Amino acid sequence: MFDLAGKRAVVTGSNSGIGLGVAEELARAGAEVVINSFTDSAADHALASDLAARFGVNVRYIRADLSKADEARALVELAGGCDILVNNAGIQHVAPVEEFPVEKWNQILAINLSSAFHTSAVALPGMRAKGWGRIVNIASAHGLTASPFKSAYIAAKHGVVGLSKTIALETAGQGITCNAICPGYVLTPLVEAQIPDQMKVHGMDRETVIREVMLLRQPSRQFATTEQIGGTVVWLCSPYADQVTGTTISVDGGWTAL
Ligand code: NAD
Repeated sequence: MFDLAGKRAVVTGSNSGIGLGVAEELARAGAEVVINSFTDSAADHALASDLAARFGVNVRYIRADLSKADEARALVELAGGCDILVNNAGIQHVAPVEEFPVEKWNQILAINLSSAFHTSAVALPGMRAKGWGRIVNIASAHGLTASPFKSAYIAAKHGVVGLSKTIALETAGQGITCNAICPGYVLTPLVEAQIPDQMKVHGMDRETVIREVMLLRQPSRQFATTEQIGGTVVWLCSPYADQVTGTTISVDGGWTAL
């Protein structure tokens, strides 16, 4: 039920963190995988070769800066379309609304929300033609709840949840599903990068910020893992989840139950 041989997956923002974890689990399940970032470094290409060798599947790296609509669209075109689209690329910035830099607001909305619209728009015709497709958007617990100082991120993630529901309705009954996974805190470079800002905003040391701010709302007091997010994506791609569409799946240690 979890065999994805013969399926091509595009995972945006997948040279680190959750995206890389998702790419690994899809490759492990036998899918052909396209990994992406905006960097196009030797390390990015080495990552693709490494995944291909470890899992015995075809893995390609395609550069695209997802803050740009035309590059987001070109990513799926250059991949040759896809059966599985995982919109994962995302960035964060922490500041009070009245001090939030306008360019950061625009960049976060472009990468975290608009890129998912662009890639989905290009991927959908091929999925419809095949009568099978999966779009999985990596939203966040912050797609369902809010916290102070993260206005752009939270607005974008709530937007991703709404986009997922809309695509689900437009594709219902056509073999295509679209859902949003809402992780709580997963210890990745994105989260690491937030720690200094949070320390500054709250006037706390690193360990206190992790325990009292970041994991305060995660009742398990444990970070989720990239493997667990990847496994949730693989499950959504399996026949078990054929009727799961237009919904959010929280992987958040109980955060949104509070
Ligand atoms: P990360 O910083 O490790 O990864 C972000 C990825 O996005 C990288 O691969 C990076 O190359 C890519 N990226 C950034 N800007 C890009 C651009 N302009 N064009 C193309 N790619 C770009 O972060 P992560 O924690 O793995 O986050 C991945 C996703 O998961 C994000 O959407 C994030 O909001 C979401 N998320 C993370 C957590 C968490 O706790 N880590 C929790 C909930 C949701």
